[in-house]
Amino acid sequence: MLQIRDLKKQFRVDGRAVPILDVPEWNVHKGERIAITGPSGSGKSTLLHLISGILRADSGSLTVDGQPLHELAEAKRDAFRAANIGYVLQDFHLIPSLTARQNIEIAMTARLTSKERRRTVDGWLEQVGLADRSRHLPSQLSRGQQQRVAIVRALVNHPPLLLADEPTGSLDWETADEISALLLELSRAHGHTLIVVTHDLNMAGRFPQCLNIREVNAVSRDAVPLQQTVLLQRGEIPV
Ligand code: ADP
Ligand code: MG
Repeated sequence: MLQIRDLKKQFRVDGRAVPILDVPEWNVHKGERIAITGPSGSGKSTLLHLISGILRADSGSLTVDGQPLHELAEAKRDAFRAANIGYVLQDFHLIPSLTARQNIEIAMTARLTSKERRRTVDGWLEQVGLADRSRHLPSQLSRGQQQRVAIVRALVNHPPLLLADEPTGSLDWETADEISALLLELSRAHGHTLIVVTHDLNMAGRFPQCLNIREVNAVSRDAVPLQQTVLLQRGEIPV
């Protein structure tokens, strides 16, 4: 599903190039469900942005479901993402003026009659326990319910790859646990490959596979731990 070789990304800050990611090799097979943990600033979101084609790497290769994304220009990467990748974010990004149903319907790409469309959305809302909330606006839903709608929106076109960036980051513990279970269950039931980055160790512990970003990203592997940086700055340990 995903093959990465020698993928490098740096950002320019104050005219200086700062290496953020260096992934010598990483492969994910179809149907795998993987949680990636790691401290803030270790390149987790950047990695997902590269896999989704939102960002382009400086060098190296990245193939998603047989498509070499590094060979595509931005417009083609956008089209590939729309058809093949579902993305769930921490803050849901639902459209406030649309109901739960409408937020899902506008994401649907299949050519369906309005009746088929309605039936499909009803089926999804039922699966995530929101059958009686289809006409609610996001502001009339709890945060956990909003994230359920966002998850359906990401899955409704059956993308082979589902990415989630801190999907439980703004939820209370119990709701986070429900959302973790839901993501895992839906991706298993529908055969999606799922890559989640998270601070939430409870969520990570539920996953069949859990990686620290250091196992993938050679930059964060080499990074000086924050505590050590503070001590260096204070001159409390020799350079
Ligand atoms: P994480 O998701 O693990 O918290 P990110 O991937 O968001 O980390 O960021 C990794 C590092 O890259 C951070 O140090 C961040 O400041 C830096 N960074 C991210 N995006 C940019 C950008 N557009 N320009 C400059 N630096 C960036
Ligand atoms: Mg992040």
